[in-house]
Amino acid sequence: MTTTITSHHFLSTCSVLGSVLDLEGGFKQDKRHHPVLQAACYLISELKLSQMMRSKNSNKHYFTKMGSRKKVHAFVRVRPTDDFAHEMIKYRDDNKTIDIHLKKDSRRGVVNNQQTDWSFKLDRVLHDASQDLVYETVAKDVVSQALNGFNGTIMCYGQTGAGKTYTMTGATENYKHRGILPRALQQVFKMIEERPTHAITVRVSYLEIYNESLFDLLSTLPYVGPSVTPMTIVENPQGVFIKGLSVHLTSQEEDAFSLLFEGETNRIIASHTMNKNSSRSHCIFTIYVEARSRTLSDEKYVTSKINLVDLAGSERLGKSRSEGRVLKEATYINKSLSFLEQAIIALGDQKRDHIPFRQCKLTHALKDSLGGNCNMVLVTNIYGEAAQLEETLSSLRFASRMKLVTTEPTVNEKYDAERMVKNLEKELALLKQELAIHDSLANRTLVNYDPMDEIQIAEINSQVRRYLEGTLEEIDIINLRQIQEVFNQFRVVLSQQEQEVESTLRRKYTLIDKNDYAAISAVQKAGLVDADGHLVGEPDGQGFGLGVAPFSTKPGKKSKSKKMFKEQLSSSARKEGASSPLSGKDLDVSTSKTQLTPSSKDGDVKDMVVRDRETSNTEPLASDSPKEELRPPRPSTPPAKPVAFEDFKNERGSEINRIFKENKSILNERRKRASETTQRINAIKREIDMTKEALNLQKSLREKQGEYENKGLMIIDEEEFLLILKLKDLKKQYRTEYQDLRDLRAEIQYCQHLVDQCRHRLLTEFDIWYNESFFVPEDLQMAVKPGGSIRPGMMPLSKIVSLGEDDQDRFSQLQQTTLPEGPDSVSFYNAKVKMEQKHNYLKTMMGLQQAHRK
Ligand code: ADP
Ligand code: MG
Repeated sequence: MTTTITSHHFLSTCSVLGSVLDLEGGFKQDKRHHPVLQAACYLISELKLSQMMRSKNSNKHYFTKMGSRKKVHAFVRVRPTDDFAHEMIKYRDDNKTIDIHLKKDSRRGVVNNQQTDWSFKLDRVLHDASQDLVYETVAKDVVSQALNGFNGTIMCYGQTGAGKTYTMTGATENYKHRGILPRALQQVFKMIEERPTHAITVRVSYLEIYNESLFDLLSTLPYVGPSVTPMTIVENPQGVFIKGLSVHLTSQEEDAFSLLFEGETNRIIASHTMNKNSSRSHCIFTIYVEARSRTLSDEKYVTSKINLVDLAGSERLGKSRSEGRVLKEATYINKSLSFLEQAIIALGDQKRDHIPFRQCKLTHALKDSLGGNCNMVLVTNIYGEAAQLEETLSSLRFASRMKLVTTEPTVNEKYDAERMVKNLEKELALLKQELAIHDSLANRTLVNYDPMDEIQIAEINSQVRRYLEGTLEEIDIINLRQIQEVFNQFRVVLSQQEQEVESTLRRKYTLIDKNDYAAISAVQKAGLVDADGHLVGEPDGQGFGLGVAPFSTKPGKKSKSKKMFKEQLSSSARKEGASSPLSGKDLDVSTSKTQLTPSSKDGDVKDMVVRDRETSNTEPLASDSPKEELRPPRPSTPPAKPVAFEDFKNERGSEINRIFKENKSILNERRKRASETTQRINAIKREIDMTKEALNLQKSLREKQGEYENKGLMIIDEEEFLLILKLKDLKKQYRTEYQDLRDLRAEIQYCQHLVDQCRHRLLTEFDIWYNESFFVPEDLQMAVKPGGSIRPGMMPLSKIVSLGEDDQDRFSQLQQTTLPEGPDSVSFYNAKVKMEQKHNYLKTMMGLQQAHRK
C-alpha cells in the first residue's frame, strides 16, 4: 500500500520549517506590525474617526485612512457535475457551511481513530453559481474599493481542473461566461465614467510565475519586445514592483480586453512551447489605478492595485508517482503555496514582526497586496465528485485557515508635487495678507515683502552712496529683504570704488609710462626721477616707477590682469563654440609631454591614438614600440582591433579622423611657435640682464669719477642714456613677446581640448562601428537596411491586417449569435477578433520568413 503525504501534513511541516529556518534571516522588520506602532495607528485612526464625525461635510482626509480590521473573505465554488457526491458533501441552509463526510475506509488499519466528519464555515458556498453571481459576490466590492485607493487581491485556489481559470478568466469565446478579469475591467471603466470629478488612469500587467521564474505575458506586444535581462522583484518606498514587467496604459475597455486576450493567448502558446501544463504556473493579472480629484486642489492622490491571481493547481503528487520535470514543478508549487499561506497567516498575526515575503516569487511579488493592508478574497475551487474528496478536503482546510486571517485595508495616498507647490503658493499669498494686516495694526506704512525690482535696488544703492558720503545720517530698516539688499549694495559700491581708484592710478601712471623717450629723458634730466625710474630722494621702490608697473605682469606674479586674461580666454573659447570650459590650470608648453604616458593595455586602440600623437609631435619621445607584436593577424574574425582601427580611419571614420589630424597639426604648430617664443623671451631676458649690468657699471663709474651736478640736477653721459633707451626697448619687446606667449598658450589649451574631444569621438565611433560590423549578425544587418526583410511587429498592424474570409465569417457569426447579449459585449468581441487577426498575421509572417531563409 502506498502512503501519500496529505496536504495538511505537508503544509504544517513547511510552516514549522519556514519559521524555524527563517530563510530571510536579517530581513528588516515590517514596522507596520510593530505592536507599539500599531497601537499608535489605532490611536490615530480613533482620533481621525472622531474628527471626521465632527466635520461630516469635509472631503479632506487628514490622516492616511485606516479601515477597520477585516477578515480575508473566503468563498468556495463547486464545479458543476452530474456525479455530485451528495452523501459526502452537504451544504447547510446558511449557504456558508459545508460538511464533509468521509466513508470509513475499511482498508485502513486504524479504523476507529480515523476522523470521518468535517465542517467548514466560510463566507459563502457557491454551488451552481453563474459567472454573474460569482462576480457580484466575490469581486465587485474589491474592485470598487480599489477606486478609493485600497489595494485588492482576489485569488483562486484549488486542484487542477476545479475551475480556477474558469472563475478568473472564464471562457473567452463566450461573453456570458467571461470571468472575473474581464468583468473587473468593465467595472473599472464604468466607474471611471461615473466619476467625472476624478482623473483616473488605468494600467495593466500580466505576470506568470513558473518554477520560480518570472514571465511577462504581454511581452509579445510590438512596442514592448522581449526583455534582455531577466525580470526581478524590486522594493522601494512606494511598494513592490517587477523590474522588466511591461505595464500598459489603457484608456478604454476594448484596449484592456485586447491586452487580456493577448496574455491569455501567450499563456497557452507558452504552455505548448515550453511543454508545461498551464495549470502548473501562477498567473497574476494586475490592474493599476491612479485617481486624482479634478475639482479639489488637494495635492494628495490615491493609487491602488487589483491583483487577480490564478494560482497553480494545489494537488499534491505523491513522491513515488512523480519524477523529473513534474517533480520539480510539484516541489515549486508546494513550496510557493505553503509560503503563501505562511505569509498571509503571519500578516494576520498582530504579534508577528517578521513576514516571510521573500521566500518565494509569488509572495514577494504580491508583498504589498497580500493580507496586511488590502482587501483580500480567496476563492477555493473544488470538485463535487467523490473521487476528488481528499484534495477537496485539503483545499477546504486551506480556505478555513485563510478565513481566520485579518487584514487592515489602508488607502494608498500619495502626494502630487505640482499641486503641492500650487497649494503652498496659495498659502503664501494668505500669509502675506496676514502680514499686511499686522503691519497696519502696528501702524507701519505699507511694507512690500516681494523681491525687489530694479528701481528699488537702485534706490538702495543711492542710499548707501549717500550714507558713505555722509549726506545721509542713517538707513531706515524696513524688512529682512531690504537689510540684505543694503549689504549687497555696500559690496557693489565698494568694488566700484576700488575699480575707480585703480583706474585713476593707471591713468596717472600711463601718462609717464608712455614710450615717449624724449619726455622720459626730459624728466630724468629735470632730475625728477633717476635712471631706474625712482623719484629722486625717495626710498627705493616707492612712488610711480617708470617701467615698474608694467612689470607687474611679470611671470609668476599673481595679478588682476592675469585673471582678466583667463576670462578673455574662456570667453573667446566659448565664442569659438567650445562645449566645455577650459581648465583654469596654467598650461605649460611642456605639459603635453607628460600626457604621453604610454599605455600598457595590450592591443588597445587607445594606444594607437596615443602613439599617433607621439609620432606627430614636434618633440617626439623616443618611441620604442613593443606593441608591434601585439597586432598579429588574428586567424578568426573579427579582426584585431588595431587592424580594424586602421580600416575604420579610412572608411566610416575618415571625416572625423581628418578633423582630428587637422586639429592635431594646428596644435603642434602652436606648440612649436610657443617654444620658439619662449626661446626668444629667454634671449631678451638675457640681454636685459646684460644691459642692466652695463648700466650699473656706468653708474658706478660715474660715481667714482665724481658726479656732475647742476642745481641739484643729475647729468648723465650719452652712453648711459643710450643704455637706458636700450633697456626700455628690450623691456617693451619682452612684454610683447610675453603677451604673444600667453595668447599662444591659451590657443594651445583650446586646441588640446579639441583634440581630446576628437579622439574621444573617434574611439567611440570606432567601437560602434566595430560592434556593428563584426558582432551584429548579418541577416539582422540586412533586415535593418532599407529594402531588407521586414521585422514582424514593426509595421502598423492596421496596414497589413485584412480580415481573412474565415475571420469575416466568424465575426459576422459572432455578431449574429452573441451580440444580442447587449451593447456591453461589443468591445469584448472587438478585442477578441483583433487578437485573432494579429495571430494570423504573425503566423503568416513567420511562414514568410522561413520561406525567405530557404
Ligand atoms: P483549473 O484552472 O482549476 O485547472 P479550469 O478552470 O481550467 O480549471 O476548469 C477545467 C474545466 O472545467 C474547463 O473546461 C472549464 O470550462 C470547466 N469548468 C470549470 N468550472 C466550471 C463552471 N463553474 N461551469 C462550467 N464549466 C466549468
Ligand atoms: Mg487553470
